Amino acid sequence: MSKSNLNNNYKPFFLPSFLTFIIFLVVGNIYLSNPSQAISVAPIKGNICLVIDDFGFSLNKDVKGFFELNKNITLAIIPGAPYTQIIGEYADSLGFETIIHMPMESYKQDSSLYSYELNEQLNASLVEEKINSAFKEVPNALGLNNHQGSKATGSLQLMKDVARSLKKIDKFFLDSFTNPESRAYITMRRYGVPTQLRQVFLDHDESKIKSNLDSLVSLSHTMPIAVGIGHVKPTTLKILEEEIPRLELEGYNFIRLSNAVQ
Ligand SMILES: [Zn+2]
Repeated sequence: MSKSNLNNNYKPFFLPSFLTFIIFLVVGNIYLSNPSQAISVAPIKGNICLVIDDFGFSLNKDVKGFFELNKNITLAIIPGAPYTQIIGEYADSLGFETIIHMPMESYKQDSSLYSYELNEQLNASLVEEKINSAFKEVPNALGLNNHQGSKATGSLQLMKDVARSLKKIDKFFLDSFTNPESRAYITMRRYGVPTQLRQVFLDHDESKIKSNLDSLVSLSHTMPIAVGIGHVKPTTLKILEEEIPRLELEGYNFIRLSNAVQ
């Protein structure tokens, strides 16, 4: 075989390899320089779950403002209040997640004015009956958290009855954590009811809403999900209107309570 024959045999193999190499370089460069690729891999700074309590007493402009904040805010509605069912239906129509905000006995406040109040005097079947009736008022509510309840959540027996009732109807529980001795979270875990623990109250002191929100944001750096509870108050609405869009732009992710419980 002559030298020229060798060269002729070599060319067909060399050319396609060279072209493939060029295409690889061009396509690779386009992929790396595409800004949309860079945005999609930007790290999430933290996951925040916001629950707003005490819906059910009115449906005015300030209440409706909460429905314009962010679709992933979870609304907690008091059963037996004048606007309970109306708010539940309004939330459903706009695609919001709701939970029952169940009145529970407190050491400090008199919650006996609530017809749905859970307290230690109730036996297991009455607890179950009240919980089931509450979910009839807001049929699409996915879970329940406690309104007040510093005394009730400290009762192991009552929390067992609540856990068994929720397990039967496949609902979750958020411990509002109004008592450092609360047995709610641990009892729900034991009975297999998906649960979470409130980390920060935003607005018990209305002069500190911004700094409480900052604390919640900081917690989201160290926890998989930071859970905060606010209330349906105009001052809370005003600060959330300013802060939520800013936090989203900065890379914080707002998630629904049903995605936060475990
Ligand atoms: Zn409440």
